[in-house]
Amino acid sequence: MEKTFKDLGLSEATLRAVARLGYENPTPVQAEAIPLAMEGRDVVAAAKTGTGKTAAFVLPLIDRIKRSKNGNSPSILIITPTRELACQIESVCSALGRSTGHRVTTVIGGMSYAPQLKALKRGIDILIATPGRLKDLIDRRAVSVANIEALVLDEADFMFDMGFWPTVRDIIALTPASRQTLLFSATIDRNVAKTVDNILRNPAYVEVAHRGETADMVDQFIVPVAQMEKHDLLCSILESRGSERIIVFARTKSRTDRCAKQLCGAGYDAEAIHSGKSQAQRKRALENFTRGKTDILVATDVLARGIDVSGVDYIVNFDLPDCPEDYVHRIGRTGRAGKAGDAISFVSHESRDALRSIEKLVGMKIPAFKTVGFTPKEVVNISAKPRSSSKRRPNIGPSTRQGGQRRAW
Ligand code: AMP
Repeated sequence: MEKTFKDLGLSEATLRAVARLGYENPTPVQAEAIPLAMEGRDVVAAAKTGTGKTAAFVLPLIDRIKRSKNGNSPSILIITPTRELACQIESVCSALGRSTGHRVTTVIGGMSYAPQLKALKRGIDILIATPGRLKDLIDRRAVSVANIEALVLDEADFMFDMGFWPTVRDIIALTPASRQTLLFSATIDRNVAKTVDNILRNPAYVEVAHRGETADMVDQFIVPVAQMEKHDLLCSILESRGSERIIVFARTKSRTDRCAKQLCGAGYDAEAIHSGKSQAQRKRALENFTRGKTDILVATDVLARGIDVSGVDYIVNFDLPDCPEDYVHRIGRTGRAGKAGDAISFVSHESRDALRSIEKLVGMKIPAFKTVGFTPKEVVNISAKPRSSSKRRPNIGPSTRQGGQRRAW
């Protein structure tokens, strides 16, 4: 029989908060992870993107862990890789915190320090943070993590990336060993978790999705295409398949900017989002897209993980990602909350190997997309060897990214 939220051991106050969010029944990851986390156990949870992971860790912690007694020292710490994801988690925590009285604060890079310092001074129970800014504020003694009772690493496998891990590891070292630790991601498994078993105590594993398992509601396609013809192909797909609520992923900041500019030049309503933009620009671009003011958001992988924008019709991988896990996260931006979506990936000669790694991870051969009204000038045979392998861009980082240095988004 399907479990209800009541079956998961949550208190009446939390159940009322859940009802206010409009959730009727727990999603599978919630049904499995919440009772374990309610027991105070460490949990490593792998669940597909868009399946309710945020509430799966916020609900038990907010229910179980009381408000902090120590001024600028929170009782719950949630670390997440991107600023956008932090803001999204904040909205779930704040909605729930209204019922339980927990005070929620978010500290992220790219924003001025003053409001964050002020909020920290007022007292906090739940702190949501990106690693760099948190470490900075700890070093300035503006916040302490010495009293936290629970630590969540959201998009956990990503936190073990060499770009993040030294900072995250330093922060964890300042937290009490007695804390409860929850690791959540769509792309984490026992092997990845084992590499950090020193931060876990006898964890319970919740595997609603295998590593690399993609959202059920997303149909995946590829289109072989020469680099120089990607823009024309994109315009032809937008023309035939619709040009509203589309996310286009490109590999670098400059390619993202160029792609958005070319789309605007072709008469489409597009905006770029990447780490080279100010936080205010990033926020505005995401808000414009979320509210339907912009039709097409062109993004680097800064937007690949966790971002929950409803009704994304389809996503286009203008470039395939460097790490196959990012593919799983990217395509999880569509096909959310029970709605169908498509993911169309452009595959040039140069990205033939990247496609192979992705197909290995997702465990399927991705079928070709039938393009309408696009006649390529150059026929690309992706089963053939790349023409100039010596000039090929190296794939950055192994699939689990241990030892790999991430490109700046
Ligand atoms: P997440 O995976 O946390 O990004 O959540 C994806 C979407 O599912 C968000 O829009 C949530 O508000 C929604 N959601 C989470 N849990 C439930 C639930 N139990 N019932 C209905 N919607 C949910």
